[in-house]
Amino acid sequence: MTEYTVESYINTVTEDVVKVCRIHGYGLVMQLASQSWGAIQPGLNHVTGPAAGMTVPCVCDSPFHCEWCCGTGWLTKHVKELIKDTE
Ligand SMILES: [Zn+2]
Repeated sequence: MTEYTVESYINTVTEDVVKVCRIHGYGLVMQLASQSWGAIQPGLNHVTGPAAGMTVPCVCDSPFHCEWCCGTGWLTKHVKELIKDTE
């Protein structure tokens, strides 16, 4: 009999989600997860932004309280330029 643990469950779920992402595309899976969550709890769903290659690190020391990056720690280059202009 197979023993199931939290770790084995998480590993199985992770493998399943990665398979779906590789078949349908990571971006589509993230978008659909956000839309689905938003339909259940409007305004509380996470949203995805630009690809990491199109962003730069935020200037904040405490991303949880940052109004520029909303806790992501990443900004578009244009937003970072706007911050420089306000300093
Ligand atoms: Zn920030």
